[in-house]
Amino acid sequence: MILDGKKLSKNILNNISLEIKTLKNKPCLAVILVGDDYASSVYVNKKIKTCNEVDIKSIDYKLDKNYKEEDLLKLIDELNSNDEVNGILVQLPLPVHIDTKKIIKKISAKKDVDGFSPTNLGLLLSNDTPYFYPATPLGIMMLLEHYNIEVKAKNICIINDSIIVGRPLAAMLLNKGASVSICHKLTKNLKDYTLNADIIISATGVLHLLDDSFFNENAIAIDVGICKKENNKLISGDINYEKVANKIKAISPVPGGVGPMTIAALMFNTLKSYKEKNND
Ligand code: NAD
Repeated sequence: MILDGKKLSKNILNNISLEIKTLKNKPCLAVILVGDDYASSVYVNKKIKTCNEVDIKSIDYKLDKNYKEEDLLKLIDELNSNDEVNGILVQLPLPVHIDTKKIIKKISAKKDVDGFSPTNLGLLLSNDTPYFYPATPLGIMMLLEHYNIEVKAKNICIINDSIIVGRPLAAMLLNKGASVSICHKLTKNLKDYTLNADIIISATGVLHLLDDSFFNENAIAIDVGICKKENNKLISGDINYEKVANKIKAISPVPGGVGPMTIAALMFNTLKSYKEKNND
């Protein structure tokens, strides 16, 4: 079975767009990109395009790669106190002269639609309800739920330990009763974890890291990885789809799986932020 994130995200975005038509004002997302990293600008442009499609107002800041950390902190301060803005998204990674943790910490937890702030991650880790769940893990949870894939009491292997994917996703799954292993580049014998897992979620960015020998026949695989090919084109995933798809129970493809679900989850969070502020 193919876990079709493209189709599901279209339904979610359609519902978001219909709901926005009933509101007094448009939700508003501030999108900040510092520098000219190719992949980051592709992601940011997709997010801005989707905002337009669902009628979320986006305020776009495409800033020079030398933009100063103190100026970025000031900009976030202004956006935090701007009543029109419901969500603030700072595209990662930031240039090395900027302290990412400092920037994320500055975003108000109530506008942190990416869900990376210490407040939101802390609430999640303490099995409390954060203001926002991080977009990629939320998109993955929505995908699993849509296909009625139970996570309670399942063995789940996540190959990624970042705050963008692996850590919050592990907490979300744990909070729902899954047994979770987090693997990463220092993990020895990755197959010991993947072969015993009911669900494998991979987000390494290593092209075709996993072939069919990593999965048991009942496995469900979620591919988050986006791998660059020589011509800078962003395609393909961590999982060798051709070799794996017919040998396991279900798989989410790249493209058309987690990518569109991440964007749908971001729009969902922005609308949620608007509704919580405005009681519309
Ligand atoms: P990251 O570099 O912070 O994390 C990469 C992870 O992969 C780390 O945990 C690292 O230890 C692990 N890893 C690397 N090589 C490995 C190997 N050989 N074996 C086992 N583990 C290995 O990156 P990130 O920001 O967390 O993103 C990870 C990937 O997911 C990237 O390809 C990124 O483009 C993609 N991503 C996709 C979406 C989406 O919406 N589809 C969203 C976020 C991230």
